[in-house]
Amino acid sequence: MFNALVVNKDDEGKTSAAVTQIGEDGLPAGDVTVAVEYSTVNYKDGLCIGPGGGLVKDYPHVPGIDFAGTVESSSDDRYSPGDRVVLTGWRVGEIWWGGYAQKACVKADWLVPLPDALSTRDAMAVGTAGFTSMLCVMALEAQGLQPGNGPVLVTGAAGGVGSVAIGILAGLGYEVAAVTGRPEAADYLKLLGATQIVAREDINETVKRPLESELWAGCVDAVGGPMLARVLGQMKYGSSVAAVGLAGGVSLPASVLPFILRGINLLGIDSVMQPFDNRVAAWERIAKDLPLAKLHAMVSDATLADLPELGKDILKGLVRGRVIVDVNK
Ligand code: NDP
Repeated sequence: MFNALVVNKDDEGKTSAAVTQIGEDGLPAGDVTVAVEYSTVNYKDGLCIGPGGGLVKDYPHVPGIDFAGTVESSSDDRYSPGDRVVLTGWRVGEIWWGGYAQKACVKADWLVPLPDALSTRDAMAVGTAGFTSMLCVMALEAQGLQPGNGPVLVTGAAGGVGSVAIGILAGLGYEVAAVTGRPEAADYLKLLGATQIVAREDINETVKRPLESELWAGCVDAVGGPMLARVLGQMKYGSSVAAVGLAGGVSLPASVLPFILRGINLLGIDSVMQPFDNRVAAWERIAKDLPLAKLHAMVSDATLADLPELGKDILKGLVRGRVIVDVNK
């Protein structure tokens, strides 16, 4: 028997989550059983711990869209007992039991061997949010972004994606401007490497002018909605925005003028279905380019029992940085 956070749905469709003992024979049939050490809390986890947001199809359900741990047994010859692995994406924690448990059984194709330089705890300090931040940085670089081009804007800055993006960009020598709705987070964002703080309300409203002064050499956007539309009109000629999130809404009330008059690129970033080779490349870049001191400055610790409350908090935008869940505590 082992501990898991199990979400149940009653006859009226109401969900409830509680730490529960389950047996190994209850695990889904995968190729690799992992002794999970750490998981974390992402925006999607908030949905899956709660009413599901349409992501969870079957109950009882074990959420946790990412985890890191050690292989316990494997029927796939790519993995052996003792191997350290990390998993993000593939809809694990949504349509497959996830990382909020002391054990997980998954498909070998979904796992990535953890780089030697990262502990399992560091891997979950990064988690899906941080892995996706690195995908954003890599996509912006592929479009020609370099330190010296000008400030890079990060929206949703005090959240998970934003915090790790700031840490990576500042570590690589970029000037970083951080958009936050939490003025009290300014010192934290500066500690991570932001040199400019932009108040959310200054950039969240739609303006009539589709083109404003050219301010940003690149952007990692975790917010979407009216903020993304506004940011497009403030990008420097020929620069790119990595659109990764929807914390501010799914609409995009934008004009085509930034695209056709300034050659702006809007790059869509998805972490869930990334091919294996890109995943390995991103984790290697994380191990090399995310300063661990910055990573450690953005984490707080939690246990499985804390998750029902943390799930609500992240949906309200109240979680700062990254939360590491020690599933064995
Ligand atoms: P967090 O909740 O940790 O961060 C989101 C941040 O956005 C908040 O901390 C807040 O930052 C800001 N924010 C929240 N609500 C609003 C609002 N109404 N208007 C403007 N800003 C707001 O979530 P994550 O960092 O884990 O994820 C960020 C987004 O990226 C989510 O939408 C998530 O679904 C998405 N995502 C997408 C992935 C992909 O593969 N494409 C992978 C991972 C995440 P502040 O307080 O500083 O303003």
